[in-house]
Amino acid sequence: MRQSDFPILTEQVNGRPLVYLDNAATTQKPHAVLNAIVEAYSKWNANVHRGVHHLSQVATQKHEEARKTVAAFIHAQSEEEIIFTKGTTDSINMLAFSFGEAMLHEGDEIVISQLEHHSNIVPWQMLCERKKAVLKVIPLRDDLSLDIEAFKALLSERTRLVSVAHVSNLLGIVNPIEEIIAIAHEKGVPVCVDGAQSVPHLAVDVQQLDCDFLVFSAHKMYGPTGLGVLYGKKEWLNQLPPAEGGGEMIEHVRFEQTTYNVLPYKFEAGTPNFVGSYAFGKAIDYMESVGLDTIAAHEHQLTLYLEAQLAALPHVHVYAAGLRKAGAVSFNVYREDGGLIHPFDVGVLLDRQGVAVRTGHHCAEPLIDHLQVPGTVRASVALYNTQEDIDTFIAALKKAIMMLA
Ligand code: PMP
Repeated sequence: MRQSDFPILTEQVNGRPLVYLDNAATTQKPHAVLNAIVEAYSKWNANVHRGVHHLSQVATQKHEEARKTVAAFIHAQSEEEIIFTKGTTDSINMLAFSFGEAMLHEGDEIVISQLEHHSNIVPWQMLCERKKAVLKVIPLRDDLSLDIEAFKALLSERTRLVSVAHVSNLLGIVNPIEEIIAIAHEKGVPVCVDGAQSVPHLAVDVQQLDCDFLVFSAHKMYGPTGLGVLYGKKEWLNQLPPAEGGGEMIEHVRFEQTTYNVLPYKFEAGTPNFVGSYAFGKAIDYMESVGLDTIAAHEHQLTLYLEAQLAALPHVHVYAAGLRKAGAVSFNVYREDGGLIHPFDVGVLLDRQGVAVRTGHHCAEPLIDHLQVPGTVRASVALYNTQEDIDTFIAALKKAIMMLA
C-alpha cells in the first residue's frame, strides 16, 4: 500500500531491497512531509507569534493550523489543549514536572505499569524522589496482560495520577485503556495515556476515552523528528504551572513578578518547532487521506500474519501470542538444546539481508527483566508494509536461524 509515496523504501541495504520493520522505533516519511519541510524553509521561514511582517504571519498561521489539525485528529475539544513538545519523552517530563509541582506531596502515589517504556518510568521516578512520593507498579498476569484486579488494589487515597501505555512498545499489546481510565476515575484519579504506540495505529478519541492527558511523537506517525504532543484537558492544564520559563510562555515579565500566557502557550517556552508542526500536519493529512480505519485494518491483518508466520517456526517463541496487538510483535529464537540465540545476532543477520528490525531491551528494561531474557527481536509494521515484506523477513529469519543454530 502506497510504498511509492516513501522514497526511502526504494533504497538498498547491504545490496538488498530494504524491508523496513522497525516502525515502532520510527516511521519513514512520505513525499508530502519531505516537501513540506523544504517548502517551509524555502518559502516562509520566519519566527512565529512575534513579527508583524508577512513571513512571520504566514509561519504563525501555518503553525496554528497544524495545531488545529492535531486537535481534530485526536478529537480534542479545543486546540488550546494541544501543547507542542519535542516528543513523547519531553511531554511526559513536562507533565511530571508541572503536575508534580502542583499536585504531589510527600507520601502521595503515582501508578505506572510493568510494561512501560523508560520514558514513562524515569520521569515519574525522578519526581517521586524529589517529592518523597511513592511509585507503584501494576503487575502483569502470566499471559503478559496487565493485572487489572491488582491495579484496582493499588489505587489508594494517596494516588494522584495513573500513567500507562495504550500500546506496549515491546510486546505490541493493546492495553484495556478504557477500563483503566474508568477505574481510576471512579476514585477521582486522573490518567495520562502514553499514546506513542497507539496514536500511529488506532483512531484515538480523547473525549471518548476521557483520558486527562495523552502524549505522542510525530516521528512515529510519518512526521518529522523532534516534535511531539502533550494533550491535556483544559481544566487540568489551567491548574498546572508552566514546566519551563522563557519567551512565548509569558504575558508580562517584571523583575518583581512574571505573569503567564494563556493556553497552550503557557507550556511552550521559546521558539517552537513550527516547521515540524507544519510537516506533522501534512503527515496527519496523509494518514487521513489513506484513512485511519484502512490503516488499522491493514496493519491488523499484517500483524496477525506476522505473528502466525513466526509462531509456525520451530524454536521461535512469540511473546504475548494471541493477545490483541497493534503494530509490533516480539520474539526470541532458541537452539535445539534450549539455549537462547542472542537477539542481537539475529538482528545482525537479518540486516545483512536488508531487513531492519529492532533488537535489545527496547527501552523497557523492567519488562525485559520480567521476561528473564537479555532482550527480544521486535518486528513492527506501518501502513506501507506488505505481506511480501513479511514473507521476505520470514525467509531471511529462517536463513539466520540455520546459520546460528
Ligand atoms: N513511550 C513509548 C510507548 C514509546 O514507544 C516511545 C518510543 N519508543 C516513547 C515513549 C518515547 O518516545 P520518543 O523517543 O519519541 O520521545
